[in-house]
Amino acid sequence: MDKYEQLAIVGEGSYGLVMKCRHRETDQIVAIKKFLETEEDATIRKMALREIRMLKRLKHENLVAMIEVFRHKKRFYLVFEYLEGTVLDELDKMPGGLGEERCRERIFQVTRGIGYCHSNHIIHRDVKPENVLVSSLGVVKLCDFGFARLISSTGEACTEYVATRWYRAPELLVGEPNYGPPIDVWSIGCLFAEMMTGDPLFPGESDIDQFHLIVKLLGKPCLRHQQLLSHNTQFKGVIKFPNTDEMLGFYKHFASWPTITIDFLDSCMKMDPNHRLTSDELLKHSFFTHDMFPQRFLPALREKVNIELNNPLLRKYKTEILMSTDKRDETRRKPSRESKWRFSLTEGILPLFKRRKPVDMSPTYNPDTQAN
Ligand code: ADP
Repeated sequence: MDKYEQLAIVGEGSYGLVMKCRHRETDQIVAIKKFLETEEDATIRKMALREIRMLKRLKHENLVAMIEVFRHKKRFYLVFEYLEGTVLDELDKMPGGLGEERCRERIFQVTRGIGYCHSNHIIHRDVKPENVLVSSLGVVKLCDFGFARLISSTGEACTEYVATRWYRAPELLVGEPNYGPPIDVWSIGCLFAEMMTGDPLFPGESDIDQFHLIVKLLGKPCLRHQQLLSHNTQFKGVIKFPNTDEMLGFYKHFASWPTITIDFLDSCMKMDPNHRLTSDELLKHSFFTHDMFPQRFLPALREKVNIELNNPLLRKYKTEILMSTDKRDETRRKPSRESKWRFSLTEGILPLFKRRKPVDMSPTYNPDTQAN
């Protein structure tokens, strides 16, 4: 810890403390996450090792870069590049919402970062305003991979975890054991609506209240979730589903928004996770593409990223981060191996988004039992 001078505390999570520090030798500012309990605590050990493992694998310009990891007095310390603010700070400064163009720039980068995680078979599981870091130049980077996990290919049940309720997808609320990347897409939708209006979309006060707020706006859950609900002792008989004509839906709720913007939100927040667009599909949504936004925005973003990565502590990761980002963008732009149209004998030709295949799964790997 002697290498760094502690300047301030910038965040306190459930498991750690994030400090703004100065690297004495280079004078650079970093963020150091100190885990509160020692590595003798099994939960902390698991969380820290999981986050370290994820961050070592993930290199992208929209994910926070880890500079180094060390242990001091049996505690884990993770050293990150420092970013000046978060979307939560922006919302505090702009309580009426960030304005559509800024929301588009922020959510495009969040979706890009999440798309990269998903392509590496990782679900973030805790996308929310305070985990979206924003640099002074407007570069967005996701942080907090403490809850992230690898996507299971074996259909094994995902472990229960406590992520922030307001951004939690309906499948998590009903106790679906086999959730996947669409939970992050749901959170992207919640985040987007909050950035647009300044208010959280579903500020539930309990899990039941959370689910109630969702169905009040979006209607009945899908059949699978209705089944799970009927076995859920906590929810059974408590939630009433609105009739279709009573239900508001995003088009009525956000009637003043441009249709394209509502459609983007709607595509993130389908009740049935299989009907939500994937993060890669979201990046191709006309909300982004109708006016050539990516073509203008991406080169400008790259200039900013280049400036920020010139930091002497980050320079050694620069090539890796930029190359990995470009490789991902190239793969994303190539037409997918899956043809856009699939044919069904009973239903004729249907657009792919109506009947999506189950998500691509990674090789068997259990982050809870395997350590590096
Ligand atoms: P925890 O897992 O303990 O919740 P996080 O990684 O979510 O810790 O960080 C907690 C808070 O610290 C974040 O919400 C953010 O405000 C701040 N923070 C985290 N990483 C950075 C960073 N690299 N630069 C600046 N602030 C950060």
